[in-house]
Amino acid sequence: MAHHGQGLMGRKVWYKLIEGNMRFVQGLFQGRNLLDLRGTLTKGQQPEAAVLCCSDSRVPAEIIFDQSLGDLFVVRTAGLVLEPTSIGSLEYAVAHLHVPLLVIKGHESCGAVTAAVAHPDMDEGHITAIVQQIAPAAAQARATGKNGSALVEEATNQHLQSLEKALRQQSRIIGEALEQGRLDLVVAKYRLQTGKVDVLSATFSESF
Ligand SMILES: [Zn+2]
Repeated sequence: MAHHGQGLMGRKVWYKLIEGNMRFVQGLFQGRNLLDLRGTLTKGQQPEAAVLCCSDSRVPAEIIFDQSLGDLFVVRTAGLVLEPTSIGSLEYAVAHLHVPLLVIKGHESCGAVTAAVAHPDMDEGHITAIVQQIAPAAAQARATGKNGSALVEEATNQHLQSLEKALRQQSRIIGEALEQGRLDLVVAKYRLQTGKVDVLSATFSESF
């Protein structure tokens, strides 16, 4: 498979998602024939992007980006925490479905981040593992002297930014795809009130 133009592909897909988000913000959803689409998709899937986002019921990627069946390969964990199976799911999208774009989409008022900020030492079943993974970002955020919701948002931003580095370090498949320009990456944050997705950082390959 030629990788020619892959860098532009990821950018193109991101613009498509941003357009979808603009529709969502305005409450103008694209009409689709889901029955036809469902039938077509029985032949296979060819999603255009992989999205890592929170399990929070208010932030489903497909609705926020106004996409449909077959468009997005979505991995959701509370607080976007990474573990072998969630990384493996993203790797599958990159290595086998050849998505040209990976979106890390966090959100405001994240409960998992709030817990890591308020109770970094909490011990409650497997929830502990979630909080522990966000705790370093919470500690970093605390060092800025912020408090209240500003502290939670700072911790969220720190955590989201750390995920790119963590994915590059923990996943050879994703790291190589990024380095070789086969994959673009956007780190973004969803605003609960406006419905808008803001870019925190973006890595687009300029090769074409
Ligand atoms: Zn959340």
